[in-house]
Amino acid sequence: MTARQEAVPTPARPGPAPAATARAWAGLDPCVHCGFCLPACPTYEATADEADSPRGRIVLMRALAHAGLAAADPSLGTHLDRCLGCQACETACPSGVSFGPALEEARARIAAARGSAPALDTALWVLARPERQRFLWLLGRLARATRLPEVLARGAGRPGASAGRPALALAMLAASRPAGGAAGGDGAAPAPTGEVALLWGCVMAGLFGHVHAATVRTLAVNAVAVRAVPGQVCCGALAAHAGRARLARQLARANVLAFDAAAPDLPVVVDSAGCGAAMRAYGEWLADDPLAERAAALASRVRDVTEVLAARGPRRAGPLPIRVAYDAPCHLHHAQRVTTAPLTVLAAIPDLELVPLEGSDRCCGSAGLYALSQPELSLQILDAKLAAIAACHPDVVATGNPGCLMHIGAGALLADLHVALRHPVELLDRAYRGGGTARRGGSGAAA
Ligand code: SF4
Ligand code: SF4
Repeated sequence: MTARQEAVPTPARPGPAPAATARAWAGLDPCVHCGFCLPACPTYEATADEADSPRGRIVLMRALAHAGLAAADPSLGTHLDRCLGCQACETACPSGVSFGPALEEARARIAAARGSAPALDTALWVLARPERQRFLWLLGRLARATRLPEVLARGAGRPGASAGRPALALAMLAASRPAGGAAGGDGAAPAPTGEVALLWGCVMAGLFGHVHAATVRTLAVNAVAVRAVPGQVCCGALAAHAGRARLARQLARANVLAFDAAAPDLPVVVDSAGCGAAMRAYGEWLADDPLAERAAALASRVRDVTEVLAARGPRRAGPLPIRVAYDAPCHLHHAQRVTTAPLTVLAAIPDLELVPLEGSDRCCGSAGLYALSQPELSLQILDAKLAAIAACHPDVVATGNPGCLMHIGAGALLADLHVALRHPVELLDRAYRGGGTARRGGSGAAA
């Protein structure tokens, strides 16, 4: 039976989800206002405004939940809009506050109070189904191949706070370009002893097919086969971050059905940190849904690709003599608490020199659509990341999230910082396929 054919009860009510809402607000209860989280918050560091700190936002969200603060209140919207959702405050908090679910709940209420946003809603509608995106991504890949976005972005220079969005968007598209240079063989793949399913995603499928290919090849070298899962859709992360909770839940339901139908017992491998964090939250998202148990079961099977590879060893690769700085995506490091697996993957590559990157666990300012919705703050936060990268002189910055790859890559391109951005599995894949020497030279460097 396919996901399309399966008869599944529809949710009793399509609107707010009471159990999920109660759990989200309860996640803020442990806060004792100690302020230990403040130094970890990039937006508080940027604005020095208590209302842009985790503690200030918790006060606002508690007022929304329990004290009658209106969802349409402008100060509530302003300060929650400025939140990156990076969850660095969660890992810094000694009391165990769960910030992320409350932020999504608050954003859903604010979005409902604001009403429709045609551009955002259209973009999310397009990203929700693979068949709606194909032409868009085809255009993107064709434009990217001409290198015109890179030329135009460089011509526009460093994006300013108000006029920078087109240049930043062009630079982000340019930064998604696959590595140049000739690849070697496909690497020796032993007979599989394990099998996984792979989330295809929306942006990942459209612009980062080369990362998916590297994921499949590196898993094959480590004796893991990938089973196809038809009917899967976008994970829903972008919708959830934008306060479109109903759409996020619809997408989560579709994925629960698709993965249960095609791969009911397999680990679900994700090579995008944001998507992995979203899928691990499916149990919470669908807590009030007839699919609640299946959603929680699927969430428990989600693994970042580096976790699967690290658990397998991974098999040692050929030499790759490059300097690599690892930048931890927030949704891997803080949201999923996956901290060592990417480093284990990189350590499997002989001659790869891992150089320390100051603030590697701090957000780069990408945060889903944040770079486009909050360009000033996003660029201010990105500047700190670029300065840290410039200080350690890597050939490559490795990071496992498409938003970070594009945002840091765009910043590096516009700042003329000669460094390539790569997913860790791309580097391992390159090393398995014959390695080579990476040269510096912008986002298109050989590695
Ligand atoms: S979220 Fe945690 S660290 Fe921050 S003020 Fe509350 S209790 Fe303290
Ligand atoms: S999620 Fe990130 S930006 Fe938002 S309050 Fe927490 S640390 Fe600050």
